[in-house]
Amino acid sequence: MPNKTPVPDTLHTIAVAVQTPAHSGMGDLLSYLAPAPLPAGTLVRVPLGQREVLGVVWDTPETAQVNEGTAPLNLRPISSVLEGLPPLDAAWRDLVAFAARYYQRSLGELALSALPPQLRDLSPVQLARRLRRTPAVESNTQNATKNIATTPEQSKAIAQISSENGPFVLFGSTGSGKTEVYLRCVQQVLEQAPHTQALVMVPEINLTPQLEDRFTARFAPQYGAQAVVSLHSGMTNPQRLKNWLAAHTGQARIVLGTRMAIFASMPGLRLIVVDEEHDPSYKQQEGARYSARDLAVWRGRAQNAKVILGSATPSLESWHASRPATAQDPEGGRYVRLHMPSRIGQGLLPRVRRVDMTHQPRRTVFSAPLLAAITERVARGEQSMVLLNRRGYAPVLQCADCGWKSDCPHCSAHQVFHKTDRTLRCHHCGTTHRVPRSCPTCGSPDIVPLGRGTEQLEEQLGQLMAGVLRPDGTPARIARIDADTTRLKGALQSQLAQVHAGEVDVLVGTQMIAKGHDFRRITLVAAVQPDGALFSSDFRAAERLFALLMQAAGRAGRDAAYMAAQGSGCEMWVQTQHPKHVVFEALRQHDYPAFAEQQLAERAAAAMPPFAYQALVRADARSQEVAQGFLRAASTAAHTAGLPGLEHVTLYPPIPLTIQRVANVERAQMLIESPHRAALQRFLAAWQAVLQTTRADPAHKGLLRWLVDVDPLAI
Ligand code: ADP
Ligand code: ZN
Ligand code: ZN
Repeated sequence: MPNKTPVPDTLHTIAVAVQTPAHSGMGDLLSYLAPAPLPAGTLVRVPLGQREVLGVVWDTPETAQVNEGTAPLNLRPISSVLEGLPPLDAAWRDLVAFAARYYQRSLGELALSALPPQLRDLSPVQLARRLRRTPAVESNTQNATKNIATTPEQSKAIAQISSENGPFVLFGSTGSGKTEVYLRCVQQVLEQAPHTQALVMVPEINLTPQLEDRFTARFAPQYGAQAVVSLHSGMTNPQRLKNWLAAHTGQARIVLGTRMAIFASMPGLRLIVVDEEHDPSYKQQEGARYSARDLAVWRGRAQNAKVILGSATPSLESWHASRPATAQDPEGGRYVRLHMPSRIGQGLLPRVRRVDMTHQPRRTVFSAPLLAAITERVARGEQSMVLLNRRGYAPVLQCADCGWKSDCPHCSAHQVFHKTDRTLRCHHCGTTHRVPRSCPTCGSPDIVPLGRGTEQLEEQLGQLMAGVLRPDGTPARIARIDADTTRLKGALQSQLAQVHAGEVDVLVGTQMIAKGHDFRRITLVAAVQPDGALFSSDFRAAERLFALLMQAAGRAGRDAAYMAAQGSGCEMWVQTQHPKHVVFEALRQHDYPAFAEQQLAERAAAAMPPFAYQALVRADARSQEVAQGFLRAASTAAHTAGLPGLEHVTLYPPIPLTIQRVANVERAQMLIESPHRAALQRFLAAWQAVLQTTRADPAHKGLLRWLVDVDPLAI
């Protein structure tokens, strides 16, 4: 087609979303010529500069008319149409357009990044072959697995979800059977019509296999194994394309995935579940910094799908939105709160034991009572879990003579000491060195690790537990799971399988092991050093710590029958210098509502989210002066131009990031805040152009990049 001379009076101008470089100033949509009007959502291949790229035909603005006979000379024709693929529907296009607008990115960038990467490289012929290969729907010959009876709390939640509109906040204790509620609601959706679909999201890739097992076991007998597909970044490109196509064509009825799955094309979507909705992983941290949870609520409303946000510790945003409406507070009740306080099988939540570390000898890692408790569990054949949110052996090495520290040469951060391979590694830029034999500054051989990480914990526990025997007389087995032990593909799954098989007595690890896993024989969980988060400059640190500890506690005593047989009761241990801190007080009572009340009162008094809306603009440059200078100039320009929304928006002065320099790049940020979301959005939309003009000013030559983060999670 590109080589043929087109017949002018059959040409149509179409708008196409293509991936243009961010802030290229090329506008959101490019115009091309097509021999026939193409429906919006059609995938096409188009020339862009010297290349040929994938594009999505977009709705042409009402003002643009199909051109009558005389094609504008500068427009190029499209190269080909990916035929055989149904167009992406209006619901999908609306979602992508909204996300681009809301998160301040170009439409093309967002649209193309929401599609499976392999789609970009396929010719129409190759795609046709792929589509042919997707198997036909299996017949429903197998019997459905027998459903377990739901508890009264589950039944009530399920009934409310089916009779009301939501969005729902399913506030259910750890082990209260939230997953069973999701399964039942999905089942109801699938039974509505032959084309209906459900999307279920979890915060981490490593939770998807467990979820897939449960959903496949439940639905494959009736709907076929291909009815359940996963979408996450851990799969190969061909797998991802295959699953995406299955969702898009409606063959897959259930999509399980991580945050990226929120952009799956699902024409029959009727239900979106966001499990562990409070988890920060739902916020994308690069490119378009979207919140998959917030987009789920938006998409649910737009596409008429119900939305369930499940958590034992909902985000304060969702909790606040689900407060009951009252005469004094008619704004309440935007979300519907459903409560499932009880654990399945009358299981008890762990008893919380706080150890006051101010009464322990300095540098104590494991207090005597905690060690005794773990020893007892091992002797009874039960499992324990020890949490520390820092990997490596020690966060820094120091020279005892001159005070030298293992600083990263490229970042304002220490290099972490990893003992297993005798390296110093920067966790920010990856720079790795061998551990020096003597101090690089003064030559002293006396260099010592400061502080501790999971490697050290594992080592010390090994020493402390030497001689502790299991019921069968064999020695206690200690294992560690963190990002370092799970680098290889499949490593995490096999390590978790060992824990499930009872081949581990004490499991040491980072937050990776605290989330979501349905461990059956863990009866004790310990957080050995959680205090760091209490005094963070980030106002969400306490909320995040509380959620993590509640999640961790939720790994203990999940099997009521096992607990009854053991007769020992489960425990959550916290070693802290601040046992009276509100986080630990609330944890002791398993009282999320009280904690939320207290935090919300603080947030309201300080006018912070959810009582205010925020955005961050970040600038990266070779020097702090340039980074901050750019932000200051953009701020001044906004005021000079009198941008819309400004009357309700506060622009704070630029400051360096907590870790100011990473990989020799200086980073600064500026907080923008407003009590009104709409005003903030109006302002940001108008400010884009100002930021681009400011950036073009030679005064800001050393600026490398800038980005906007709307509703940032880390301040
Ligand atoms: P949550 O997601 O709320 O932490 P799960 O959904 O994982 O809890 O449920 C905890 C355990 O209880 C699981 O092993 C699950 O199979 C089981 N379970 C859930 N609902 C029921 C029920 N109604 N009857 C018996 N067991 C149940
Ligand atoms: Zn020294
Ligand atoms: Zn570094």
